[in-house]
Amino acid sequence: MYWEPDKECLDREELEQLQIERLQSTLNRVYAHVPFYRKKFDGMGIAPEDIGSLTDLSRLPFTTKDDVRGNYPYGLFAVPLREVVRIHASSGTTGTAAVVGYTRNDIKMWSNLVARVLTAGGVTKDDVVQVSFGYGLFTGGFGLHYGAERIGASVIPASTGNTARQIQIMKDFKTTALVSTPSYAMLVADTIREMGIPVSALSLKYGLFGAEPWSEEMRQEIQDALGIVATDNYGLSEVLGPGVSGECLERNGLHINEDHFLVEVIDPETLQPVPAGQKGELVITTLTKEAFPMIRYRTRDLTRLIAEPCPCGRTGRRMGRVVGRTDDMLIIKGVKFFPSQIESLLLEIEGTEPNYQIVIDRKGAMDEVTVLVEAAGVPFSDRRRESGLGETIRKRLTHELGIAVEVKLVGKDAIERPEGKAIRVVDRRKF
Ligand SMILES: [Zn+2]
Repeated sequence: MYWEPDKECLDREELEQLQIERLQSTLNRVYAHVPFYRKKFDGMGIAPEDIGSLTDLSRLPFTTKDDVRGNYPYGLFAVPLREVVRIHASSGTTGTAAVVGYTRNDIKMWSNLVARVLTAGGVTKDDVVQVSFGYGLFTGGFGLHYGAERIGASVIPASTGNTARQIQIMKDFKTTALVSTPSYAMLVADTIREMGIPVSALSLKYGLFGAEPWSEEMRQEIQDALGIVATDNYGLSEVLGPGVSGECLERNGLHINEDHFLVEVIDPETLQPVPAGQKGELVITTLTKEAFPMIRYRTRDLTRLIAEPCPCGRTGRRMGRVVGRTDDMLIIKGVKFFPSQIESLLLEIEGTEPNYQIVIDRKGAMDEVTVLVEAAGVPFSDRRRESGLGETIRKRLTHELGIAVEVKLVGKDAIERPEGKAIRVVDRRKF
């Protein structure tokens, strides 16, 4: 099932023609209205009309998160504020927030793209959609909400927090689709188990999860625990919010809405494109945004492009699940690894949950790594089993990562999830 079949199944040649036309109009818009881009283009001796084909894209400068922050709050807006109907901002956990704006047309386009993602994930107007994303400056809640309404589904703006009440609502309101982060879905599954509610008492059929990286193992766990079909979707505030790409029911990669976004995957060190299928940093250029267009935005998200066609009939290329962020990569005692590797390992160890937090400290010249793991199934009185589990996890992580780590078991829900998003790394080292 498609939301906009004529666009989602567009012939490749027609798509590329549309992309180049839209790219040219975006370049003209930013050159005329955003001094930041005009200065950059002028400095490189590029005029918008020099970009005559999609291969010329590589001549354009990249835009980074620092550029967005450096233009705080409205420096990158391409329309006057009177045309902006909505403002969001990224969480800004590591500095100034990135502020983004939407015109009325942007909101319409955004809702449509989220409607595509939801439709691909199985949602129809007959569904009751519970949006358990934060409603606020974060784009997740409002983004999914508008898309689900666009489809005509019955939307419950549950937002985050108070999991027991969320489950009560889920049961009583007969929620059929849960929209949240995957880590929140895990918490819901655990809490349902603890409340003694059989999954058969719920009406859940679909789960649409995004806003943080997750593994295939975690998908299996969530699907089994909640009896649902779980799909992955992707987006980020700087280019739109949710709706950039999403999986269809084949669950084999996320279809990119390529009529609205040009995507590239580059080597984050050489900045050169990597061959199709190879992992690298995702770079996105918006093609239809009015208020906040983005040229070659370096997302810092690591993924790969999948060129093979999908059995569902959509022609939009797919991206693999996001496996981490370039700035998430940890280097401890010279060993490089991503938090997602720890998640995959935890899922292989019986009795653990993939709810964890990596705390890095420096004692003298030595880095010390402690992994906090939420151990829901372990009663706190059962100290012996608890320490046994902690020891199992410690040995396994130490062996697989090749560095010594300490493991501390904590109670369920002890690891903070602002806006439903788990904080995976707390780095207390001072450089
Ligand atoms: Zn597909």
